[in-house]
Amino acid sequence: MQIVDHRLKPGWYKPSPNVGGALVRPTLLVMHFTAGGGAGPKGVADYFLRPEAKASAHVVVGRDGGVLQVVPFNVKAWHAGRSVWRGRSNCNDFSIGVEIDNWGRLTRTADGLVRSWTNAVVDPGKAAELTHKNETSRSLWETYDETQLQAVVRVTRLILAAYPSITEIVGHDDIAPGRKTDPGPAFPMGRFVALAAGRGDRAPITRRVTASRLNARGGAGLDFDVLGVFTQGTQVEVIYDSPGPWAQVTGRLSDGAEVTAWVADQYLA
Ligand SMILES: [Zn+2]
Repeated sequence: MQIVDHRLKPGWYKPSPNVGGALVRPTLLVMHFTAGGGAGPKGVADYFLRPEAKASAHVVVGRDGGVLQVVPFNVKAWHAGRSVWRGRSNCNDFSIGVEIDNWGRLTRTADGLVRSWTNAVVDPGKAAELTHKNETSRSLWETYDETQLQAVVRVTRLILAAYPSITEIVGHDDIAPGRKTDPGPAFPMGRFVALAAGRGDRAPITRRVTASRLNARGGAGLDFDVLGVFTQGTQVEVIYDSPGPWAQVTGRLSDGAEVTAWVADQYLA
């Protein structure tokens, strides 16, 4: 598969009517979950083809690893909604959106079964109890299979190679915190970015915290919640050193919890 004329070829493609104008020099890649079920992704892709959906994304990656495109990469898709990143609102104007088929939050009902928001029964082996970075208590979330994750990595590598103006990969929950929870805590964002940005096969980059107390935040900005504190001398592994003043790292907080979080990179040596 390759990107030719802003399309994945060879590949499944149907044009969604839910699009804006030309997308020129995108700088952001936004990851989503579809909150949809089904074995394949076509249900969600078909949904994006309906005008009344008033929503779309550039590509949808199914649970089986299938990749479906409904908006060419040089056209604005309607995936971000009300959103802000680094002070710029309306992220649809400068981002490419990737939807991944996944239910998102699950619940255990009184009958002991694990269910989606639509009440569909979900295999409990696919549910992980995790705390969303923008929340304070645990929930069940559908996990992402390795087959699907590798398909997302492959399509992301193609997108990053074709659109080198993209310098950051974020979640919908980074650009619309509080309003959106996707791709959620079950999505291994750190490992995904490392794999997709081509760093996966290189030695980890370890750095040391120089500030006496360095805030670990849920996103790259002062408006994101503080998840905890890294104390001076703590070794952290850099997952993604963004072109801006923030780096995404994994490490152990002062309270002993291992987290993936964002820090101001001027306090790393
Ligand atoms: Zn989303």
